[in-house]
Amino acid sequence: MMNTALLPRRAATLATALLVLVAVSGVAAADTVTLTAMRSWSAPANTRVVLDFTAPVNPVTPDSGVTRQLVLSIPGETVVRAAGVPAVMAVGDSVVDSVVVTRVDGGARFQLFLADSISFRVFRLMAEDDKPFRLVIDVARPGAEAAEDQRLEGIAAVKRRERMRIVVVDPGHGGEDSGARGPGGVLEKNVTLAVGRMLVDELNGIPGVKAVLTRDRDYFIPLRDRYRLAEKMRADVFISIHANSSRRRGSGSGSEVYFLSLRGASDQADADLADLENAADLVGGVPAQSEDDLVSILYDVKRSSALKQSELLAESLLDQVARDRRLESRGVKQAGFVVLKSVEFPSVLVELAFINNPVEARLLRSPAFQRQMSGQLATGVKYYFQRAGIGLLDGGGRTGQALGR
Ligand SMILES: [Zn+2]
Repeated sequence: MMNTALLPRRAATLATALLVLVAVSGVAAADTVTLTAMRSWSAPANTRVVLDFTAPVNPVTPDSGVTRQLVLSIPGETVVRAAGVPAVMAVGDSVVDSVVVTRVDGGARFQLFLADSISFRVFRLMAEDDKPFRLVIDVARPGAEAAEDQRLEGIAAVKRRERMRIVVVDPGHGGEDSGARGPGGVLEKNVTLAVGRMLVDELNGIPGVKAVLTRDRDYFIPLRDRYRLAEKMRADVFISIHANSSRRRGSGSGSEVYFLSLRGASDQADADLADLENAADLVGGVPAQSEDDLVSILYDVKRSSALKQSELLAESLLDQVARDRRLESRGVKQAGFVVLKSVEFPSVLVELAFINNPVEARLLRSPAFQRQMSGQLATGVKYYFQRAGIGLLDGGGRTGQALGR
């Protein structure tokens, strides 16, 4: 949710202040644009400030750079602040201090004051479904990228040194991207994080397995970054956790496990689901970029091997999930999910249940169900390692054959 009152995670040695001044014209015009909300999200690598508007605006500003002060002008627009939007939003997470909105004459204008020279990026996100037009300002946490690379390399080193199998658990969505919504305001991003945390705990109880989350809090990660994190950790298995939703109000039921399809989805419903999940980058906020999939013979060989293992992993997980009689097993399926595109390890996407179905939404938000589902998924992972002939350390001795990576 909104972390307007987030405390600094580290000592606030960097006295960085970010001030956003929205200068609005006092002249009433027919085409008034309203600033309807301001939010901030603190991720390990950056702080994101999001401004919601009722209509698209065109700020005059550099797209990116390194600066201590940034000015965003919106010429020729009358911008007013909605009643619920505060004049000052305190962030105080050691990257962004606060966001201040002021009202002066002479057109719309944003000013960002940084106490230090910090790299930033500004981009626009067009309205999507229930999301309005947004201006996004990302401010990088100094040193975060190097620290993160070091952390991921540390996990890869544990794998080499202690011969652990690395299982990366990816709680779907987060931050701006809430995922699907269920009755009573239950959000997919919160369910996936709760189940992801419990699954990691369960997996870490298995000798020879080290489990790691892609995100441990409520912030957004672009889809490709999720598997790239896992690649840097030299993951053995990647499991993305989601909850399904049907277009038809209250309908849809059951669990399903997906792996990547290169030739389109199993059917239209699966294609729609993949489109929905792949839209996370649009909703959560990633600037437009081109496809950068590597194409080579080595890549094809790796891909077909990863796909075979992914299918085995999907079957192993569904076998366990299907033990819960409250949920119908919808089977193992294939679709073109972006988050499953790594060729370095088997990867699957688990749709736990339908969050728009009131009965299943009640299950999804229940800690007892989350715990039980996590236990079943962890058993499924163990079962996968067995079926794939991948040995796990057990009682200090090493069994089975090597994975070959
Ligand atoms: Zn999802």
